[in-house]
Order: sequence, then C-alpha cells, then structure tokens
Amino acid sequence: MRFLFQGICLISVLSVSSFAQTILSSSVQGNSQPTWMKASLEKLERELVAKYGEAQRVRAHRGLNQIASFWRNEDGDAATFETFVTTNFAGDQTTLDTVFNRFEHNLEQLDGHMAEIGREFRNQSDLDVGPILGVDEVFAAYDPSAHVSDDFFQNKLAFIVLLNFPLTTLEQRLTEGEKWSRREWAEARLAQRFSKRIPADVNQAVSEANAATGRYIAEYNIWMHHLLDANGNRLFPPKLRLLSHWNLRDEIKADYSDAKSGLAKQRMIQQVMERIVTQTIPAAVVNNPNYDWNPFTNEVKPSAVKDSDANAPPPATAASALSAPEPNTRYAKLLQAFQAVKKIDPYSPTAPSHIARSFDEGREIPEARVKAMLEQILSSPLAPQVAKLIEARLGRPLEPFDIWYNGFRQRGNYTEAQLDEIVAKKYPTAEAYKRDIPNILVKLGFTKERAEYLANNIVVDPARGSGHALGAAMRSAPAHLRTRVEKSGMNYKGYNIAVHEMGHNVEQTFSLNNIDHTLLEGVPNTAFTEALAFVFQGHDLELLGLAKPDAQSRALKTLNDFWGTFEIGGVALVDMAVWHWMYDHPNATPAELKDATVQISKDVWNKYYAPIFGKRDVVLLGVYSHMIDSFLYLPDYPVGHMIAFQIEEQMENAGNIGSEFERMATVGSVIPDLWMRKATGAPVGPEALLAETKKALSAMTSPQ
Ligand SMILES: [Zn+2]
Repeated sequence: MRFLFQGICLISVLSVSSFAQTILSSSVQGNSQPTWMKASLEKLERELVAKYGEAQRVRAHRGLNQIASFWRNEDGDAATFETFVTTNFAGDQTTLDTVFNRFEHNLEQLDGHMAEIGREFRNQSDLDVGPILGVDEVFAAYDPSAHVSDDFFQNKLAFIVLLNFPLTTLEQRLTEGEKWSRREWAEARLAQRFSKRIPADVNQAVSEANAATGRYIAEYNIWMHHLLDANGNRLFPPKLRLLSHWNLRDEIKADYSDAKSGLAKQRMIQQVMERIVTQTIPAAVVNNPNYDWNPFTNEVKPSAVKDSDANAPPPATAASALSAPEPNTRYAKLLQAFQAVKKIDPYSPTAPSHIARSFDEGREIPEARVKAMLEQILSSPLAPQVAKLIEARLGRPLEPFDIWYNGFRQRGNYTEAQLDEIVAKKYPTAEAYKRDIPNILVKLGFTKERAEYLANNIVVDPARGSGHALGAAMRSAPAHLRTRVEKSGMNYKGYNIAVHEMGHNVEQTFSLNNIDHTLLEGVPNTAFTEALAFVFQGHDLELLGLAKPDAQSRALKTLNDFWGTFEIGGVALVDMAVWHWMYDHPNATPAELKDATVQISKDVWNKYYAPIFGKRDVVLLGVYSHMIDSFLYLPDYPVGHMIAFQIEEQMENAGNIGSEFERMATVGSVIPDLWMRKATGAPVGPEALLAETKKALSAMTSPQ
C-alpha cells in the first residue's frame, strides 16, 4: 500500500513530443495557458542551451513543456516562471544527481512518516486493545497525506521534478523500459507522481460519487425470509439479510450442500439478481423486511411475519404502488460515478479518460491486451470440459447460477476442529507466533541468516479484525503483522491468515530494504503482492508439520480457480464494455444506461456462456456491486488469478521458495510485464493458469 498520492501513484502520459504538442496547441486543459507562456518557453530554451550547452537542449525543451502544462496563472507571472526555471534547471549531471538523491531520500521520509502517522492514529480501531471511542474513529478516518500533492504544486517541488525528470507513456515504458537503467526507471516513477494536478472541486466531486455509490451498495440488502415461492413457502430462515451481490452469491455457493431445497433457493436467488440488473425489482422490497415478495411473479404484499426490529414503512396506498419497480437508481448512481471521474479528463491530457487511467496508469497493462487475455480464457476449450465435469458432479444439466459452482473442494485430512486444536497449542499468544517466525521462514526455504533478518523487521500486533499487513515505506521502520488471537489461543483460520499476511510483510521488507532505489519500492500492483502472499499461505499445513495437500486436492483447487476466473472474466468484460458505452453516450439517461447494460450482459453471455449452459440472454454477469461503486475495478480479479498461477509455477520450477521469493521481491515497481519477465521469463498472461487447468483435468478424469 502506498500512502502518498494514493490512487494516482501509477500514471502515464503520451510520448514527450506529442505531449508537448497537446499542451501547446490545445485548450482541453482545464486551465488556459497564460498568454506570455509561449514567448517565455522560447526564450528560456535559448538561454538554457546557451548556458549549459547544446547537449541539454532535449532535456530543457522537455522540462519546459512539462511544467508549462501544469502552470496556472496563480502560480506566478512570466518573471516568476522565468526565475523559477533559471534557478531550478539542473543543467549538469552532478546537480541532477543531487536533485534526484534529495527527492528519493525526502520522499521516502515523507511516505514512511505518513504511513507511521496513519498506522498510529488507527491503532485503537485496528488493534485488540479495548473499546473504540468517538475520538478514535475520527483519528482513524484522518488522512495526513491528503493534501501533499496540492502542497507540492503550491511550493513548486512538483515543478522542480517536472522540469528535470521525464514524464513517460505506458507505450514508452512497454517498448523502451526494458532498456532503461534502474536509475531511469526510478526517474520515471518520480516524475509519474506529479503527472496530474486535479483541482479541489473535481476531487470533491469524485469523493462525493464514491460516497454516494458506496452508500447505495452498502444498504442494498434482501430480506430472504420474505421471499415467497409459488406456494407461498419461505425457503430461507428468519432474520437472514443478504447484501447484494456478495452475500447473495455466497448463499448460492452455500446452497450446493443443501440437498433438500438448495436448488430451489439457488433458482430463487438467480431470479432476484436478474431483477436487480433489469431494475424490475419492486423498490419496496429493497432493504425492507416489512413486505413479502415472490420474485417470479413480482407480487408484493405487507408481511405478517416480523423478523426484525426495523420500523414499519409508511403504509402503501395501493397494490400498484407496492410493486412499483426501483426507478433505475442503480444506473443513476453509475452515471453519477461516470460524470464525476470524467471531470478529471481535462486535467489528465495524456490519459484523457477513466478507461485509459484504469488500464494505462492503474494496471499498466494495455486494455486491448487485458481483453485478449480474458477472451483467451473464456473461449478456451478447457471451459466446456470443466463444465462437463461439474455437470457430472452435480448430476444435472448446468443452470446459469452454476457460474458460482464451488464444489471443487479440497478433501482435508484434518477437520477444522482438529486444526484449531493443533494451532491453539502451538500459538497460545501473538508473542508465541512472533517467536516462531524465524523457524517458519527456515521451513519455507530461507537461510537462517535471512530468516533472522526478516523476523527482526516484522512487528507482530494483536488485530481486532481478522488480520492485515502494513509495510513501513521507510527503511528505518519495521513492517507490521496484525494477527487475530482468541483468548483460547490462535485458531486455524487466524493462523492461515497470519501466514498470508506474513508473506506480505516479507515482500514489503525485501522490496523496500533490499532494493537499489526506494523510488522503485514495492511490486507493480496489488495482484503481485497477493500472489506472493498466497505462496506462503499455500504451505500453511506443512509449516505445522502436517502432510501437504495431495495431488487430487491440488487439482481440485486449480479447477476451482479456473472456474472462478472463467466467471469473473465475463463480468470484467461487461464492466469494460459498459464504461465504453458511457463514454460513447455521455448524455445518456439512467434508463438508457440500464438498457445498454442489460444488452451488454446478454451479449457477453451469449458469446461465451450460452454454448456451455444451453441458455441464451442471461443477464447475471451484470449483477456485481463493484460495477457501481468501484469504477472499473473488476478486471483486476481475473488478471490477478493469471499472475498468481505464473508466480506459483515459477516457485515450483525453482524448488526453493526462500531465494526465489527474495529475487522476485527485489525487482521493484516496474511495469507488470517487465516484472514478470524478470521473475519468470514471460510477460503477464493466462498460459500458466490454462496449463495447470489442463493438468488438473487429466488428473481428475484419469483412473485413480
Ligand atoms: Zn493479502
């Protein structure tokens, strides 16, 4: 996690020459260029070249145009601009090195101490150390780094960076990055931190949209006991309140083990989900336990059964008012999100759409490649084979909700209760776990020296919640492992999470302390740190001295991951197509956006899923709540699965986790393809996932 310039740390711009042209010739920028700027730029370039020599012309030209694109009238007049440039242009290598080193050192201090303040302010709410008061909540919500970017433009430190170091495009980082020195990568990352200057009112609109969509989703519950089937039966128990879509989906998964009424429940939930997507759900039944609803006929009536403390709603005047559909609120919220982030476009001239920022800056994998990788998974001949296997295991033809099939379960040799007992005995306190970290790391293949070094860089704290890992962001501080320990000792779930979080801490330690440039601290994005943490987590049983999962349970896990990727890949394609549609129809109404989303969901389904499920025009792929409140986040999931398989495969091939982990974790935050090529020899792609799935399929179908 980065604490400084959160959300805008990975950024890109057009190539330098076209970037300069964009700035000089266009008025798309939110702020108009001061009238004196053009003359000042020409004069300053002449002066800088005269002073430092012809060799500095390219740098001078680039730097001048970069700062011109962000300079506003309130930053100063022509004289201020010219004095600033003359004073701060580093015209020789020694001065440039000094400026670079100063930023690297000071930004590490800034990031690290911001992280420290944030962590300390959240101690009371994050740690298991007694009651949380109102004051603790305010401290926890405070972000001391929120205004750093504005401050750095105001005091002109950002302009010093932009005057001396190059802004780069994703295209450049992809094509030229491989030849860059580590210092050039560090310079690119330094400049990227200042590639946007978003006005406060635009940021405000984005946070408002974030809050509004978040609230809408957080309160979208379905009261399950009030769903009636054709005979008026209630399939679900009282008080069960499920949040769309997460809890509804998880209920579908849980219902596979309900032999009696699981199938009827699953069909009913599918019907509810479809009505959410198409907005034919009666508004009265959203987050409301006072009405009974038959989601098939859409009939609504006041409920005689009371299973909550919620106040009765105002009495409805007529049956028609009761069944009135939700008025496309889902799509009105999505439009609000779109219109808010679109306001950033003019201040991001080189990634001038949310789609470009999401792929070129956030993921740093071009959208076209992500789309191609997803299509490769969705149209893989392995998909119908896995589907056949699921049909055989279910003993019935697939139905659309089976995209959430979760029956590829690992057969554990131990029950959860047995594991709880083993873990509680071994780790009665957080302190006991901490003492054992060096041993755990040695078992994972780290040398004794490395294990001690890592253990000394990890502080263990008792977590209030399930557990998390916090990196230090500065070398003088340790990483923090937050782990949950019950009064009766650690349980298996807490231990499993602790091993995962420790994987994060080890990555955080290596990728900060053992890397050549702190400006390259970390990994390309969260998918990478998650994949590395899963490597640790996957060995948790062996670390307890128990047998590791056998070939059969590993095959099951692979098939589970493949099916999950097959499902979320289609969801991601819908998310992407909907954002393109909004950019193509910026003045759409909520109703028009609904129609488009429904059609896109059907199109993706018909292309990739209908041939396998034998049913057309299903809209389930449009139900994910992230589509509304997370602004084009969904493609991260399938890409994350692919990355995890690539890293896992490399660990297996290398044999030794310890040294391989350190080698990978010190590549740093270069672009994903370059990182993956250094780590595994191949760019990011679905091949490892597909190869493992193929192996798993033959392991499952060959005679035991
Ligand atoms: Zn994690």
